[in-house]
Amino acid sequence: MDNTLAQFGRHILKRHFWCVHPVHNTCCTSKTEENSETSETKRYDSDTKRTNGVLSWPDYFMGVAKLSAKRSKDPKTQVGACIVDRQNHIVGIGYNGFPRRCSDDVFPWGKKGDYDNTKYAYVCHAEANAILNSSSDLRGTSLYVTLFPCNECVKLILQSGITHIVYNDSKSVSTASHRAAVRMLDAACVTYIHHSRMMVSPTL
Ligand SMILES: [Zn+2]
Repeated sequence: MDNTLAQFGRHILKRHFWCVHPVHNTCCTSKTEENSETSETKRYDSDTKRTNGVLSWPDYFMGVAKLSAKRSKDPKTQVGACIVDRQNHIVGIGYNGFPRRCSDDVFPWGKKGDYDNTKYAYVCHAEANAILNSSSDLRGTSLYVTLFPCNECVKLILQSGITHIVYNDSKSVSTASHRAAVRMLDAACVTYIHHSRMMVSPTL
C-alpha cells in the first residue's frame, strides 16, 4: 500500500476511466484501455476499498478534509479541503474562514443584507486556503473537498495545476456558479468525482 496513491494518481492522469464526466469518457479513454482489465486496474480496485479496518487512501484524505472543515467558524457551512500529491503526501489543507488579521468576532457571518455586511465579501473558501497554504508545486495533484468547488475556486484550481477533484457534497447544482465551475473543469479536462463513486469498481 506504500505507493498506491502514486499509482492511483498516474492512473487518473493516464486513463480517467472512472471519471463520471462524459467528455473524459470520450476524450481521455482509448478503446483498448476501456476493454482491458490490467494489473493497474486491479490495484486501483483494491486500493479504494476498506480492508481489515484500514482506511483507503480516498477515505483517509476525505477524512482529513472533513476534519479540517470543523475548524471553520462559519455557523452555516463548514467546508474543508485537502490537496494530495502523487506520492500520497498531503501538500495543502484549508477550511473556509476570513483572511488573516480579519477577526471572526468582527467580520460578519451573515448571508443577507448589504454585500459588505455579509460573509461573501470577506470569506476565503477552503480550496483557496488549501492552495494558498501550500508551498508545493501543485501541478498534477488531487483536491479532496467536502463541497463541490464554486466557480471562483475552480479558477484557482485550474491556475494552480490541480488535475483531479474528489468532492463529498454538491448542494448547488442548479446555480450559475456551479454551471460555470463545471464548464471550466470540463474545458480543462480536470476530472471530478463524488467520493462515494470511488468505492465502485471501475470495471463494472
Ligand atoms: Zn469557492
